[in-house]
Amino acid sequence: MRKKYVAGNWKMNLSPAEASQLFDEINAIKVENVHVLAFPPAVYLLDLSRKSTQVGVGIQNFYPEEKGAFTGEISISQAIACGASYALVGHSERRALFNETHGFLKQKVNACLLHGITPVFCCGEPIEIRQKNEHISFVKNQVEESIFHLSEAEIEKCVIAYEPVWAIGTGLTATSEQAEEMHLEIRSWFAAKYSSEVAEKISILYGGSCNATNAKELFSCPNVDGGLIGGASLNKESFEAIIHSF
Ligand code: PEP
Repeated sequence: MRKKYVAGNWKMNLSPAEASQLFDEINAIKVENVHVLAFPPAVYLLDLSRKSTQVGVGIQNFYPEEKGAFTGEISISQAIACGASYALVGHSERRALFNETHGFLKQKVNACLLHGITPVFCCGEPIEIRQKNEHISFVKNQVEESIFHLSEAEIEKCVIAYEPVWAIGTGLTATSEQAEEMHLEIRSWFAAKYSSEVAEKISILYGGSCNATNAKELFSCPNVDGGLIGGASLNKESFEAIIHSF
C-alpha cells in the first residue's frame, strides 16, 4: 500500500512564536496511517525538528552545491543537520519567481538523493496551458526533464506533488476528476518508464487550495495519496481536518 501524506507548506509565514505553537499543535494531533510533514521557514528548522515526535520536517528550498561562496543559500547537508528529512523541489513559486529551470531542479533532486533526503517534486501547469488543453504534455515534460534520469531505486525514494498553478493560493481547486486524471497520467508515465510495480509505490500528492471542505473528495481518488497544503496548513483546525480526510 502506498504511503499517505499530508504536508504543510508554511511558505514565508509565521513569527517564531507562532511557528512554535502551530508545530506543537500539529505534533499533538492523533494520526494513524498518514505521514504528516511540515515545511517551515528554514530559520525554524532546528528548533522545530528537535521537538518533533511524529511530524516529518522538511526544507522549502536549498542550493544544490555542497558548500562555498553562495551568499544567503543553504546546502542540503546543512538542512539535514538542522533536522530536515524532506525537501520541496520544483514548487511553482520557485519556478516562476526565482527562475528555477528543469536543469536546476534536476540538480536539486540529485542533491537530495545523494544525501538521503526525500525530494517532494512539484509539477503543474499554468492556467493558459490548461485552457489550451495542453496540461498533460506540459506536466509530462516537467517530469521527464527533471526526474526521468533517475534509476528505479532512486525514483522510488521520491514523492510527487501535482499542483496546478491556477489552483495555488487562489481558492480554485481542481475537481476530483481533474486531479485524478493527472495523477493517473503521472503514474502511467512511471509505469511506462520504470515498471508498474515501481509506479504503484510512488505517492502522488495533490496541491492547490486543498482545504478542510474539499480534501475528503480529493483524497478519495484512487491515485491521490494525500495533499501538499499551503494556506490551510497555517491553521491547526483546518490542517487537522485535512489529516483526517482519508
Ligand atoms: C502550495 O503552495 O503548495 C499550495 C498548495 O498552496 P495553497 O494550498 O495555499 O493553494
